Amino acid sequence: MACHKTAPYYSEDSDFYHVCRNCTLGDNIEPDKLRRGNPGRRRLCQRCKDIKAGRVSR
Ligand SMILES: [Zn+2]
Repeated sequence: MACHKTAPYYSEDSDFYHVCRNCTLGDNIEPDKLRRGNPGRRRLCQRCKDIKAGRVSR
């Protein structure tokens, strides 16, 4: 599975941000908490890292 790269997005109550549109964790963000743009001090989601590195098979 390849990363479908998009602008950074995150949940306002999370310490992590996502860059893959197809991240399953990013996909679970509640719509009313979803934010886009500069993630500030948030760190990149581990699953997004794995997807980008080709370590996720589905
Ligand atoms: Zn992610």
